[in-house]
Amino acid sequence: MTISPNISMSGSASLLASTLQSSSAALLLPGTQCRLHPQVSLDNLTSFRVGGPAEWYVTPRSWEDVQASVSWAGDRGLPLTVLGAGSNLLVSDRGIPGLTVATRYLRQVLFDEDLGQVTVGAGEPLPRLAWKAAKRGWRGLEWAVGIPGTVGGAVTMNAGAHRDCTADILVSALVLELDGNLAQVSPADLDYSYRSSALQGGDRLVLQATFQLQPGSTRAEVMAATNRNLVQRKSSQPYHLPSCGSVFRNPDQRAAGWLIEQAGLKGHQIGGAQVAHRHANFILNCGNAKAQDIFDLIHHVQAEVEGRWSLSLKPEVRLLGEFS
Ligand SMILES: Cc1cc2nc3c(=O)[nH]c(=O)nc-3n(C[C@H](O)[C@H](O)[C@H](O)COP(=O)(O)OP(=O)(O)OC[C@H]3O[C@@H](n4cnc5c(N)ncnc54)[C@H](O)[C@@H]3O)c2cc1C
Repeated sequence: MTISPNISMSGSASLLASTLQSSSAALLLPGTQCRLHPQVSLDNLTSFRVGGPAEWYVTPRSWEDVQASVSWAGDRGLPLTVLGAGSNLLVSDRGIPGLTVATRYLRQVLFDEDLGQVTVGAGEPLPRLAWKAAKRGWRGLEWAVGIPGTVGGAVTMNAGAHRDCTADILVSALVLELDGNLAQVSPADLDYSYRSSALQGGDRLVLQATFQLQPGSTRAEVMAATNRNLVQRKSSQPYHLPSCGSVFRNPDQRAAGWLIEQAGLKGHQIGGAQVAHRHANFILNCGNAKAQDIFDLIHHVQAEVEGRWSLSLKPEVRLLGEFS
């Protein structure tokens, strides 16, 4: 790849890059704190713990640095991928081309006592936010405690649990469009439905979100409700091995897990990937899975369920890169 002359090489960045398992030196984007790392392995940055390298990888710490990174990719015609906590992603063993922008350092949390709202950076982990709200005695996020994603991922995926979801509490989100413009959007702009939003088109990056919560309860009440949700999830879902949570969206008629279980697929294994015994809508990486094993198992489950129920299961997990 040809690198533009306005990008300079950095020795210390190279050291940092090696700790990120990069094979060659990182580049400093002038006028920013951004280091662009080549060939960064994504397996440790996704909850499935599989996947090849990002061609380029950056972790901006400010909106300006996000903007600069996005325009760096745009100037070179490189595809852009946004990475939150990687808890709903299956990254190909061959990796992903272009620039991967990780939001993990875009964190700030501001509670507005007068409005009962919280404004949060896209990289803030959802469970941490749920506990922060609970400790103040603010209701509205008790459902989110077991979802191991970021705020940006939740706004994009319309993450939800226990019959509540992100769209129900979102007041507005600040997004960066690929042409560099910032825009404030409301839920009405985002075409929300079950685990779906217009943001999944990949043409906007969520920088921060404001949620409406309900102050006024005691810390003990909200902490107890939040903890109950966590305990209930951990007893019914397999959190002990790497996964992406539910692999398939629930069709209207039946829960995907029930359909998969009735098709006799619990425990079915391809390579290191296995349909979980505890919850059939989970696929687990039993230690040595390749992304291709998981991909093949997804297809096998879809074919078996289609054959048995004439229903097509749609993946909730986002597939990135090429699979065979
Ligand atoms: C054990 C386990 C349990 C789970 N339980 C649930 C559950 O109960 N309910 C549920 O809804 N989900 C659940 N999930 C799935 C996952 O946690 C959610 O989908 C979560 O919202 C994904 O957030 P993330 O930050 O990890 O996003 P990622 O997985 O990193 O990305 C998901 C998608 O969002 C995009 N994206 C991420 N951040 C941004 C951003 N800032 N701007 C624009 N696009 C962005 C990505 O490009 C990608 O397309 C579970 C996952 C696991 C591993």
